[in-house]
Amino acid sequence: MSARSQTRWWISGAEPWPFVNPEIIRRSEDKIIVWDACLSFLSIFMQVERHREITVRYQNLNGDVVEVDAGEDRNLSELLQHEIDHLEGILAIDRVTDVKTIVTREEFEKRYRDASPYAVVPVSNTVET
Ligand SMILES: [Zn+2]
Repeated sequence: MSARSQTRWWISGAEPWPFVNPEIIRRSEDKIIVWDACLSFLSIFMQVERHREITVRYQNLNGDVVEVDAGEDRNLSELLQHEIDHLEGILAIDRVTDVKTIVTREEFEKRYRDASPYAVVPVSNTVET
């Protein structure tokens, strides 16, 4: 299965997509700032900087080594960087671009929901706080 078809499979289905020993093997120089949140702390949102595109190498449940190219489509690049960070003990809060972007869920919903979730804004166009 090619990386491209795996991406489509993830987008179209609700099936789990296990990643065994995932590793980011390519990061675009181009970066984006996105709203991020985490199931580890449900009540706050913040802006973090991520690579716009990455390639992840992992093993599937059959032990096959596969690669997937992840971009902005469905925020897959951000999602994978977020989850792989967890494996390194890094939380989104560790990557916050500015502590002034940390907001409560209520404030996020009121002020920034239209620009998210995980809406992409250029690095040079961060939210004024
Ligand atoms: Zn998380």
